[in-house]
Amino acid sequence: MITENLAKIKATLPAGVCLVAVSKFHPAEMIAEAYQAGQRIFGESRENELRQKVEALPADIEWHFIGHLQSNKVKYIAPFVSLIHSIDTEKLLDEVDRQAVRFSAERKERLGTDTIDVLLQLHVAQEETKSGFTPTELVELLSANEVAKRWPHVRLRGLMGMASFVDDSDQWRREFRTIVQCQKDLLEGPLKAQKITSEQFSVLSFGMSEDYPVAIEEGSNMVRVGTAIFGPRNY
Ligand SMILES: *Cc1c(COP(=O)(O)O)cnc(C)c1O
Repeated sequence: MITENLAKIKATLPAGVCLVAVSKFHPAEMIAEAYQAGQRIFGESRENELRQKVEALPADIEWHFIGHLQSNKVKYIAPFVSLIHSIDTEKLLDEVDRQAVRFSAERKERLGTDTIDVLLQLHVAQEETKSGFTPTELVELLSANEVAKRWPHVRLRGLMGMASFVDDSDQWRREFRTIVQCQKDLLEGPLKAQKITSEQFSVLSFGMSEDYPVAIEEGSNMVRVGTAIFGPRNY
């Protein structure tokens, strides 16, 4: 079923849209099946679960961390993580930079780079439980700090967001547009001033099983799809 689901989804993705297969709460065997079908990018949201899966699965998988990340857990994923989607505080960014230095040798060996790629998470949904910066906070953060000096071991690759948990595609669209607009504002404002280009700050990670077709229409170039590939999760 996983193979068929993947094929179906991939057939609908335009060129340039990256598929992150969200495998949280599913066993390594299911990830292995998706791997056999050619999928190489997987998203996980819990640090301990991710570490176990990294041990059990092929080394050429690109692991993305997509869940809420506590600062004291960064050290556990820093040796191998390819992209952290969920940077939601300045303090967390500081810690990722620190751990990139600490695990520089491991990262060079495993990934060929010691910098850590990250996305800044935007809070666009109505639910207070979701985390992330507001667009204004991000403009302020990047205006107040020179990225290359303050976080030299981190690469800011773009933005991530999650739409509200509602059955209303017009609301999803409004929230997705806030993310796209924020990318524009940052690129034309504080990032431009620091010579960070749209090629570098290019990733727009939004869209999940329910809303990824709408997300792509609104400009997403990285969708995080779990249920539509692996089926429902048993929490
Ligand atoms: C679980 C999760 C997803 C995938 O959700 P599905 O609805 O199963 O596709 C995407 N992004 C984040 C941040 C998640 O936590």
